[in-house]
Parts: sequence; C-alpha cells; structure tokens
Amino acid sequence: MEPTSTTDLTTDGLEQQLIELESIKARLTARQISLLREADRRQTPLGDGCRSLGEWTAGRLDVAPETAKALVTACRVLETVPDQEQRLGSGLGSFDRIIATAHLTVAGASPDRVEQAAGLDIPGVRRLTAMHRRMAPIDEQQMFSDRYVSMQPTLDRTAYRLWGQLPGLDGQLVEQALLTRADTFPTLPDETRSSPGQRNADALVSIAADSLTTSSGDQNDSGSGPVLSVFTNHDLAAGSDGQAGSVTSTGISVGRSTIEEIFCTGSTEHISFQNGQPVAAGRTTRVIPPKLRRAVLYRDGGCTADGCTSRYRLQPHHKIPWSQGGRTDPANLTTLCWFHHHVVIHKSGYTIQPDSPPGRLRFQKPPGNGPP
Ligand SMILES: [Zn+2]
Ligand SMILES: [Zn+2]
Repeated sequence: MEPTSTTDLTTDGLEQQLIELESIKARLTARQISLLREADRRQTPLGDGCRSLGEWTAGRLDVAPETAKALVTACRVLETVPDQEQRLGSGLGSFDRIIATAHLTVAGASPDRVEQAAGLDIPGVRRLTAMHRRMAPIDEQQMFSDRYVSMQPTLDRTAYRLWGQLPGLDGQLVEQALLTRADTFPTLPDETRSSPGQRNADALVSIAADSLTTSSGDQNDSGSGPVLSVFTNHDLAAGSDGQAGSVTSTGISVGRSTIEEIFCTGSTEHISFQNGQPVAAGRTTRVIPPKLRRAVLYRDGGCTADGCTSRYRLQPHHKIPWSQGGRTDPANLTTLCWFHHHVVIHKSGYTIQPDSPPGRLRFQKPPGNGPP
C-alpha cells in the first residue's frame, strides 16, 4: 500500500485503505493469537507468577484488561474453529466479524446458518448466537456465581472506578433502572444532554442517595440527604483559595465546589491544626438548620429553575456561595431539584444568571469553568 497523504486520496481510495488496514490488523492479530497460545502451552504466565493468561497478556502487552480478555477469548474460541482462524490469518474479514462467526459456530449453529450469517451485521450475528447458545442449568448457576460488582478508589481517593459482571437478566434490570431514572432528569441549561455514560452515573448516584435516606418516598422533603462531614485545615484552605485542605471523615479530598454543595445539604466540622496536630474541634452543625430548610422549600413550592417541574430531592441552595460571602438566610437561599442543584450547579459549574427572576432561575456557564 502506497503511503499517500490523506488529503490527496479520493473518497473511494480512503475507504479502500481503511478496509485494507482492517485486514492487515486481522492478520497481525492472528499471529498474536498463535504466539499467545504457544505461551499458554509453555505455561509461561504461571512461571511469571501470573494467575491467568489474561493477566499476563495485559501486563506484558501493556493493554487494558478488556483488550487482553478479548485476545484471550479469541485465542480459546478459535482453537475449536480452525477454519475461522485461517480466515483471520489470511485477513479475509475483520477481527470482530471472524470472532462473532466463530462464537456462532461454537454455539452449535449449522454450517448453513453460519454461512447465512455473512449477510448479517455483527450485532445480528451476536443475536443469532444468543438464540443458539445452550444454557444448561449448570451454565446458568455458573453465570450467577460469577456475579460481582467491584468498586475501587483511585490512589488519591478523588474518584472511584466501578466494574463487574451480572447475569443477563439482572444486568438488564440494572440497565433499565438506570435508564428509567436518567429519563426523569431535565436537560442541561444549554439544552444539551449529558453523555449516556454521564447519565448512567448520575442515575446510579441518585438511586444510591435514595437508599441512604428514609425520605425517598416523600419527595417533597427529601433534601436532607445523608450527613456528610468535612474537616477543613484552615491554614491549608486559606493558602489555596479553598482548593486544598479539606477531606471528608473517610479521607476523600474534596474541592471548593463539593464543599459548597455540602454547605447547602450537609454538615461540617471545623478542626484547627497546629504542627500537624488537631487542637480544637467545633461542633458538627448542619449549615442550613432543618427549620430554615423547610421554610424555604415551603416558600418556593418546588424547583426554582425556569421551566423545571421536578420535585425530586428538593434542596435549598446558596445563591451567592459561602466562599463569596453568601449568607445562610432566606433571601440568599433558593430551592432546586437534585439535578439542577447537584449536576448543573455544583458539579458542572453553571451559575445563576443574576438578572433572572427569583422563581424562574436561568443558568450560565462561565467560560473555562467546569468540565466542557
Ligand atoms: Zn447549593
Ligand atoms: Zn430542577
């Protein structure tokens, strides 16, 4: 293949080259697969102290666990379907097509069916495979006993990673619950929608928040939320514009916008430090006392975002943030639903347009503030 500048290519040529490269990738992957199989035969991973070929592959090739898993799965499935492995080695189809076809064969589809599958797109081949797959009781039990959900904080505990596996129907139930919850959220103020992954994340967090507060059934008074305490080292906080010096009681570092949200919904504890030792601890206080919170919710009667009819987890919010001298009194408090409060303001960095009427708040995104 002649390396031509991409701008010089005709559209046909461009498409042609993309397809040729996919075929080259298939041939290279076939070679990797046969090398992996040989490494497996020599039990190299065990000798290197790895628990599995997948773990060894991820480490040695410096690839993500899911990439390694796809290679190892391909290695195993192609072992039983040599003609598809040959096709891969000759570049007679993309890697995904050949692996999907191999799975269909392993699931017990007749050679005629496998041949017809060439006329389907890859999701179609996968659906056909699902129809053919035998699920003996022992397989179903195995799938259930393989279930897990894992959560791991990153080293600096500023985020958590989640992954896991659920049996098919349970997975679908969770997926449906997340979609249903996400559908109740309004759009962002600029009429854009969060990405599907972001909407899943918001849905999961809101379902978890419901399960931790007794008032999930009473959506008019559910703004209280679980008590979250923040410890602040005032020397560090003052020297960093509030960006450092604050952690929750479980040691998670939080920045200014999270603290501002806790000032609206949670409680704080102030601890002073001298020579690294805590010297005085203040009382745990809810920043907005429950009586004031109820009064503001009653006054506003619902979310004050323009056009929002959500009554989900209504929460009072400081219009002028505490960090800018905003006070905890009725004039500076307004009621917002969970989405407008948590997602739009405190997590995405929108601010209230100063000239919007108190009961019909509009939002603006300051340039360079918050995620794009
Ligand atoms: Zn707030
Ligand atoms: Zn709202």
